[in-house]
Amino acid sequence: MTSLASKFRLPQERTLRTALPGPRSEELAARRRAAVAAGVGSSVPVYAVDADGGVIVDVDGNSLIDFGAGIAVTTVGASDPDVAAAVAAQAARFTHTCFMVTPYEDYVAVAEKLNALTPGDHEKRSVLFNSGAEAVENAVKIARTATGRDAVVAFDNAYHGRTLLTMALTAKTMPYKAGFGPFAPEVYRMPMSYPYRDPLGDDGVAAARRAITQIENQIGAKSLAAIIIEPIQGEGGFIVPAPGFLQTLVDWARENGVVFIADEVQTGFARTGSWFACDHEGIVPDLITMAKGIAGGMPLAAVTGRAELLDSVHTGGLGGTYGGNPVACAAALAALDVMERDDLSGRARAINDRVTTRLSALADEVGVIGEIRGRGAMIAVELVKPGTTEPDPVLTKAIAAAALAQGVVILTCGTHGNVIRLLPPLVIGDELLDEGLTVLEDAIRAAAA
Ligand SMILES: *Cc1c(COP(=O)(O)O)cnc(C)c1O
Repeated sequence: MTSLASKFRLPQERTLRTALPGPRSEELAARRRAAVAAGVGSSVPVYAVDADGGVIVDVDGNSLIDFGAGIAVTTVGASDPDVAAAVAAQAARFTHTCFMVTPYEDYVAVAEKLNALTPGDHEKRSVLFNSGAEAVENAVKIARTATGRDAVVAFDNAYHGRTLLTMALTAKTMPYKAGFGPFAPEVYRMPMSYPYRDPLGDDGVAAARRAITQIENQIGAKSLAAIIIEPIQGEGGFIVPAPGFLQTLVDWARENGVVFIADEVQTGFARTGSWFACDHEGIVPDLITMAKGIAGGMPLAAVTGRAELLDSVHTGGLGGTYGGNPVACAAALAALDVMERDDLSGRARAINDRVTTRLSALADEVGVIGEIRGRGAMIAVELVKPGTTEPDPVLTKAIAAAALAQGVVILTCGTHGNVIRLLPPLVIGDELLDEGLTVLEDAIRAAAA
């Protein structure tokens, strides 16, 4: 996978022509301040004009290395030729009819594909939406209809979106919830397994039992419609729960008629080195929510799960004007083919090896790396004050800013804002990956010194 260069339109290189942000980005930022709501933030204040493979080109002609993939979305790249062709061809035929008015084949084909790719070989159904939050909202609607129960359990550090119900499910107040309440009722938060910070450490079964005891004490299984969890937490800090945690929760949910929802909006579609993060531990969720990487950057989301759960909802109970838009469905079919054809799951595992080998060596050298974790091309570097486990969000910010100044787009996350997260497009070549890592390592060294 080293010589992908020929496949790309844009040179796969980092080129800095101006300081970042450059003058034209600054001009656009001024226009933006007068026109766009201040509540929308941007982590990287350069304005894009082109993107391909592992690079983003900005309005000043700078070519940046992309370690964010637009938050785990452009897994196949931001302008994969097959995706772009599928989008153009479908847009030339029809952009919309509304599946609830006049249905079309690609929606059905995406549903078939998701039913086949998601964990478990039971009979499944799928329904399509526009965003991850919308998928989560609908998964909860389905679980409530199917069980006749109200309560939903979410976990510490969880992120499930920004709509009313998903804000309630999301753990972190700033910036996601502050001032936006009151929140949806019947949402309960339970302790997560977070091996690096949890006294129970690597004992996932004990961590699950701790949560189950609280569920039984505070809610009672008979009132609980669903447990929703990210199998690897995304915005919360790329937290991989200890082995046994997820399976113990799944087993308890099944014994108690509780719907187990895996929110794979960020972890899905080859990102973690498998189609889904659940695959790594053989977990079979009842419902799975998907979005982000599904359609090569086009807005599409889905809920897939047990046929009897999905089919328990009355006709007309699920839907939305744009849900399963035909252009987005065509993009998804093309993107999923690319992932299969180019074995992007294998590529994610190779990226993991390359990145963690280098960063582990760096961790021995600098005292600020508390933990390197993640699966596939979803890799976190948790930064702490030297000799402690105390989170260092200031250092984290400084590192991301220094990397950006050198032309590498680096995102942060974590409940304490002290996690660097690496989410490169899976089509990024090794040379560019290595160059970006060198910039990141230098930024960490300089900030730690
Ligand atoms: C991003 C994300 C969401 C929300 O998706 P949107 O498309 O932004 O609504 C939900 N769950 C997880 C795990 C996510 O990472």
